[in-house]
Amino acid sequence: MSAVVILSWDPAAPILEYVDVNGGAGGVAERLAASKDAANDISAQLAGQVLPRVAEMEAEGDVVLIDDISPVRVVRCAVTAVGRPDDRKFELKDKERRAPVRTVSAAALGVTDTARADAANQLEYLYAENLDPPGCWLGCEGGIDAWLAARRQTREEEELRKQAFKRFVNPYTFVPFPVTVERSAPGGHHLLGPGRLSGAFTVTWTFTTAFLAPDGASGTDVLRLPGSSVKGAVRAVHETLAGGCLRVFDADFIPSYRDHAQVRGPEWKLAVVEKATGDGQPLTVMLCDEVVWVGAGQLRQACGASLATGSRIGIKHADIPSEPNSLGRKELASSAAVTGGGDWVVLVTDSGTRQLKKGTYFLACGRVGTQTAEVTEAAWRTFRIAAVGTRDMQPGARKRADHDPDDRQPTAPVKFGSQPIGYRRVVTGRLWEGDVIWVRTRTDGASVTAGELSLAALWRHPGWDPGQDPASSPERWSAGERVPPALLGCSDPGELCPTCRVFGSVDQQAREHGDRARQRAYAGHVRFGDACSEQPVELEEIQRAPLGAPRPGAGQFYLNYTDSKPAGKGGKPTREWGSDPDTERRRPLRGRKFYWHADPAGQSPPRHLARDHQKRRPDGTESELVSKRQLAPVGTVLRQRVTFDNLSRAELGGLLAAFELHRVLTPAAPEAGPVLLHLGGGKPLGLGSCTATVEDLRVWTAASRYGAAAAETPDAGAYVREFAGACPAEIKGAIWPSLTAVLAQGTVNAAQVWYPPGEYWPDQKGRQEEFDKPFYFFTASSGTHIEAKGKQRPLVKLPDPAGRDQSLPIVRKEDLK
Ligand SMILES: [Zn+2]
Repeated sequence: MSAVVILSWDPAAPILEYVDVNGGAGGVAERLAASKDAANDISAQLAGQVLPRVAEMEAEGDVVLIDDISPVRVVRCAVTAVGRPDDRKFELKDKERRAPVRTVSAAALGVTDTARADAANQLEYLYAENLDPPGCWLGCEGGIDAWLAARRQTREEEELRKQAFKRFVNPYTFVPFPVTVERSAPGGHHLLGPGRLSGAFTVTWTFTTAFLAPDGASGTDVLRLPGSSVKGAVRAVHETLAGGCLRVFDADFIPSYRDHAQVRGPEWKLAVVEKATGDGQPLTVMLCDEVVWVGAGQLRQACGASLATGSRIGIKHADIPSEPNSLGRKELASSAAVTGGGDWVVLVTDSGTRQLKKGTYFLACGRVGTQTAEVTEAAWRTFRIAAVGTRDMQPGARKRADHDPDDRQPTAPVKFGSQPIGYRRVVTGRLWEGDVIWVRTRTDGASVTAGELSLAALWRHPGWDPGQDPASSPERWSAGERVPPALLGCSDPGELCPTCRVFGSVDQQAREHGDRARQRAYAGHVRFGDACSEQPVELEEIQRAPLGAPRPGAGQFYLNYTDSKPAGKGGKPTREWGSDPDTERRRPLRGRKFYWHADPAGQSPPRHLARDHQKRRPDGTESELVSKRQLAPVGTVLRQRVTFDNLSRAELGGLLAAFELHRVLTPAAPEAGPVLLHLGGGKPLGLGSCTATVEDLRVWTAASRYGAAAAETPDAGAYVREFAGACPAEIKGAIWPSLTAVLAQGTVNAAQVWYPPGEYWPDQKGRQEEFDKPFYFFTASSGTHIEAKGKQRPLVKLPDPAGRDQSLPIVRKEDLK
């Protein structure tokens, strides 16, 4: 027998309707179709009872037993959740009489998920005042709590599905850094030590996404990936897996940012470089004693089509405005005459960041005076860092622009819309005699120094806080200050991290003489042969989409922080290195960068193929960012031989685990597996995902090779267990779960992976160019101060890589308004 509420009995049908009390949790109404004999019994047992009513019941075959019918009638109640989240209650109201019955705490009615208690409003409560709990729920499959939990999950999934078209997954994420590195002496290269192993194994790579073949691959010869390239990829995974140092890391790096629109004070003057060293460091500048902004049309009339930075013009003294305009600058009237030749010098700059006045393009012109200023060493250092961030200084930019590498002062045409303006100086990071720049002057007694240099009225500044006098020690703001100190590359060959002990340590940043660097280097214990296909592989020529340049200056992604507040009034956007949240303590870098495994082939258009708007520049010429490349298909297999010498068993285990990751990394959800590596180029585009299988492992010890001892039987599993056993708990506990998530094939939905899109997914078609603009997202997440309330732009962080949902909201142009 079990307790039920008998809801109704229809002897004509004959149907008995009831619900299990289920300890108060209730359930859904059951309808029992009775046989004719049973119907007579039921009618007899329920004679004179007003339903619904609690009773004990048992139904088996044709027999229905009803017993212990409660003397109290059950009231069918409508339910309304009320009260604060921490004190949820239900108001029960008699459905028939529409009268309040009682208000009961949610807990007393068996609801533990009070946050979702509202969902229960669509159920009925069968109230029986003589019971504890006072009745049960009706209409909830499996009882109230299970039903609410299921509703919660469905809601969340629906919400995610509903929102999915508005969300994307960034192609990369970061695995956190460990705080400590365990260093010790490596095995050495002279003797095979006792218990240490030498040997070899074969690795078979099988690609699960298309593989970007190295330059020069033909399709008629076997496909060959240089051993050094594989070694680099395996080493990067090993560093994370084993807790190694940051070998490929530019500790001196400091980003630079575009200036924000603001009026510069009178201490900023135009100047002409007077003297420079043989390698382009300016020593003194001639200062201009007056600056006037002149319309490009007037300048072209005076100088012709050859108008360029350094062109000389004449302006009549009487035409110089006496006061600056609302933009804070003096503009020459369009009626004023400008002549060619004279004591004024022109600075031609890019149209990119300048303030535009409707229809007219103004250029800064300065009257060259007689005063000179010395350029400080600090100003030069700051300028160098700022210059590195410019488009002109991006790797390969000069080559793509076809500049003569011997030309010290290359120029580039500037256009305003379709209208040619003149020629600007290309940023080379060097300054030569005759270059025109802005300088911030500082007067100290009789001498004037140029304490800051700038190539335009609005230019760039390094990611540091000048208020803290960084010029004397800029390294205090560098990348090296933003990682746990122990992680900086090994420099003592007698004390190496687990990765350098196996792969070797070459001091990448050696600034000392070559000999000294070589002394500090330690040769590796592992050698990689080239990875080759057995047969020629048919290649497909593609136009590869542009790869986004890494921008560690994008602090919202690259830095670790808990405070995502935007800047206060007048403050630098908080994404910037050197903005206010950085002053107490430098915000650390987020971790090691990894790309999700996300096959682009399932996307339309596929993420790795250049879109039409990327293939051509606005002027119709072929874009230099799109390159023709060869693609090997999914399923391509490469094999290579790896040899090693003088490794401990645990070191060999770590090496093997860096290939066969599944031996140590197990995705929590089986559907997320397997764990994969990346080989070859195009990782950001989802290319080169692959599995590795180790076969034919052979090992020998000193005793087995040179003595009479029996040959060592290789046991990869045992070596890996020794590696895992020796691996610090911090690495296994804090790093491996994140590493597993980023290396598992199915952690993210590959269809959602893209550089931050500028349109929702359904609008991609037909609006691809706008869709491909990450600008809106990075602006909206920049931590910039905005005057209007409710329009702030807090930092948006990448999700924890081990988290369930990796998606971020898409930001469109209209969302910024
Ligand atoms: Zn190291």
